[in-house]
Amino acid sequence: MAKIEALMSWKDIPLGCYVLEAGSTMDYKTGDWRSQRPILDREKCTYCGLCYIYCPDGAYKDMGSEEKYYLVDLDYCKGCGICAYECPADAIEMLEEEV
Ligand code: SF4
Ligand code: SF4
Repeated sequence: MAKIEALMSWKDIPLGCYVLEAGSTMDYKTGDWRSQRPILDREKCTYCGLCYIYCPDGAYKDMGSEEKYYLVDLDYCKGCGICAYECPADAIEMLEEEV
């Protein structure tokens, strides 16, 4: 089977949602179908890591011990809100995307 070239958008995913090649998640910037985005309040964040663990898309990046917070890579965040729901410190708010 031919190798899939790096794609720019979820709109380039083959119809029928077929996965033609394993391990190709990073090739698709699926964040562009998001209607809401998570906004982090760093003052409330306790760096527990639950958002990082629960995100189904692995969109959170650990910024390391010096930064003490997790950062969302919006290229891959689909706006599901699971991180905001699970955050025990209520440090994540989901805001509507602007047009
Ligand atoms: S779940 Fe909430 S408190 Fe925990 S690291 Fe994520 S934003 Fe911070
Ligand atoms: S909104 Fe969903 S996809 Fe985006 S960072 Fe939170 S858990 Fe991950």
